[in-house]
Amino acid sequence: VSDLTIPPPRPLPDPLTQFFWDGVAQHRLMALRCDRCGKFIHPPRAICRFCLCTSLTPTELSGRATLYTWTVAEQAFHPFFADKLPYVYATVELEEQAGLRMVTNIVDHPFEDLIAGMPLEVTFRDVGDGLILPQFRPATAADEP
Ligand SMILES: [Zn+2]
Repeated sequence: VSDLTIPPPRPLPDPLTQFFWDGVAQHRLMALRCDRCGKFIHPPRAICRFCLCTSLTPTELSGRATLYTWTVAEQAFHPFFADKLPYVYATVELEEQAGLRMVTNIVDHPFEDLIAGMPLEVTFRDVGDGLILPQFRPATAADEP
């Protein structure tokens, strides 16, 4: 064990993705929305994959989603995460649109009890060294229909 602190790998925003990370910094979950057909696009792209329109606007999402699929990471592929194992690496489907999915982590829930389709809500967590990530936790009762 050394005293060396290994920083986390960090997102490197570019002009296409800066809005997403600016949103995260403000605890807002954002996605591009097509100005022509109204569909959401994630991950960010310069062109709508539904209608090929190039006019897309960053739009805030509700942060509500359902669990689509997941796996439990038991091995760290970067030293920063070595003391955070095990953690849940998941894909969630955002409520705004069928097929609108985001890769994330599930927190605040025993991974043995995860169920496909369970309702989730976004939470913004500092995972260490000031790195804030949008993660998902079970939806609170107040948010359920
Ligand atoms: Zn479109």
